Amino acid sequence: MLPTSAIAALREKFPLIAELMALQPLSWFNPRIAPAAEALGDVGLTAGDVAQASARLARFAPYLARAFPETQASGGVIESPVVPLPAMQAALGMTSGQLWLKQDSHLPISGSIKARGGIYEVLKHAEMLALDAGLLREGDDYSLLASEAVRAFFGQYAIAVGSTGNLGLSIGIMSARLGFRATVHMSADARQWKKDKLRAHGVTVVEYATDYSVAVEAGRKQAQGDPSCHFVDDENSHDLFLGYAVAGERLKAQLAAAGVTVDAQHPLFVYLPCGVGGGPGGVAFGLKLAFGDAVHCVFVEPTHSPCMLLGVHTGLHEQISVQDIGIDNITAADGLAVGRPSGFVGRAMQRLIDGYATVSDEELYRLLALLEQTQQLCLEPSAVAGFAGIAPVLAAPRYQASLDGATHLVWGTGGSMVPEQEMAAYVARGRALLAAGAA
Ligand SMILES: *Cc1c(COP(=O)(O)O)cnc(C)c1O
Repeated sequence: MLPTSAIAALREKFPLIAELMALQPLSWFNPRIAPAAEALGDVGLTAGDVAQASARLARFAPYLARAFPETQASGGVIESPVVPLPAMQAALGMTSGQLWLKQDSHLPISGSIKARGGIYEVLKHAEMLALDAGLLREGDDYSLLASEAVRAFFGQYAIAVGSTGNLGLSIGIMSARLGFRATVHMSADARQWKKDKLRAHGVTVVEYATDYSVAVEAGRKQAQGDPSCHFVDDENSHDLFLGYAVAGERLKAQLAAAGVTVDAQHPLFVYLPCGVGGGPGGVAFGLKLAFGDAVHCVFVEPTHSPCMLLGVHTGLHEQISVQDIGIDNITAADGLAVGRPSGFVGRAMQRLIDGYATVSDEELYRLLALLEQTQQLCLEPSAVAGFAGIAPVLAAPRYQASLDGATHLVWGTGGSMVPEQEMAAYVARGRALLAAGAA
């Protein structure tokens, strides 16, 4: 906790803090944005690192196709569709550019963006162990990892993670399928169905009555006492980040195949929901590598959990939490209920992210219902946050010259695994709010 005197000084120096404290939706465009060629050097990871991650995922594709039949159609590649949203675009009153959705909500295995980074980190760890033990050699067909003998070998090892839900699903399901002993430390805001699903996969779920940071800390401590346990560190992991970053080259190929041009005259705006920052940060890194200065990334956070905006804006990163300025970190967007940002991501990406916006829970429900109504697509509340970044971009003086040729891509980060009844309740809530707004 920062002392009260320090908070008073910060409020004096950064007027935006008072606005954040008022919980009103707002946006902030980054004055320190720098050319990709220059700022990519801040990250400490390179295009070569992303290429290695991509190659590793390709090596694992035969295994994934065998272990998860739902990935057979894509040859064991975990990827999501990108689709245009003409009806949603009209409903939002967007008269320039084209609106698209990246459907990470429909990624196989765990139904959220965490199927990128989370699964990648588990696979990398498994590969290292199997290579060291001589159970796997370079050039082997990795589907041999699905054998009972290899599963028994992985059973000597444990994997643990702290999570608000979706990261736990990815790490837990992937680890358990490989044969690891998996433990997920879950914060109070995690949904019951996510805990149930994990237990059904044979994962140990430890529940905490507190928020995400505490669950992570407890998980980290438990893993430290066990040398056979690998702790997936959502706040600092380079492997998670690289797993997410592979999305950049994949999206580039998808947009090219769809005939969408991205260049200086046709900029690509990408709107990413942000929790601790690893997912959107890693994806944004991959996008900057793939599209350079033609892509503009905007992070969106709940008004009650604006941790990355607060950390980057003040330059204090993980040294400050939203609780320090009296914000409760309570939001319906469970994937985004994070009070303290990743310092690694904040520092790595602080000159590469164009802007930040915040969104209220009520607006999330409205957006969710509007998307269902116009496009018959169902996303979870966290996953529609990106839509709230569009209006601030359309109004920002710095982009006016290039908006006609722009593509606006909302990263839809989760939702396909939400139980039907729960989704119906989300939609009903949003419809009621839309109706109340229209009246
Ligand atoms: C985790 C998550 C995010 C944000 O990712 P972070 O790495 O926590 O920033 C966004 N949307 C959904 C649905 C998520 O589960």
